[in-house]
Amino acid sequence: MKISKKLNDAINAQIGEELFASNGYANMAAYFNSLGLARLSAMYFGQSEEEREHALKFVHYLMEVDGEVAIPAVQAASYEFDGVKGALESAMAWEQDVTGRINRLMDLAIEEKDYATQDFLRWFVSEQVEEEANVSHLLTLVEALGNRSILTLEAYLPQK
Ligand code: MG
Repeated sequence: MKISKKLNDAINAQIGEELFASNGYANMAAYFNSLGLARLSAMYFGQSEEEREHALKFVHYLMEVDGEVAIPAVQAASYEFDGVKGALESAMAWEQDVTGRINRLMDLAIEEKDYATQDFLRWFVSEQVEEEANVSHLLTLVEALGNRSILTLEAYLPQK
């Protein structure tokens, strides 16, 4: 099965977005570490790995459908954040942006009646629901801390 040039190009662009997110989350993980938030930092290093896995999922898919893998230049991700809440708000904005991009890829696959790519993209549609829910949960915890030290957050996070 051969993927169309248009979808192939759009997927290559998405590989760049996933790698951008991976770098952004590594920056964020280092920032959380600088605040003494070891567990939150570990969570975000894990998130950074996950984004790289997403990029590679797309790479492998292109290989399967006889496409051309052409990873684009990745722009520098932000590394300055406005506290934990500000960083998590950035994470939420990135994830909402990715959700929009995945939806547009799906629109294209539907338009082209490319059922295989629709099926492949469904995993990412569900993944985005989970990604947004995870950040939303962290933001809820940060809100719930109120005036308590942000270090208290660590007690509510999984230990690695
Ligand atoms: Mg992703």
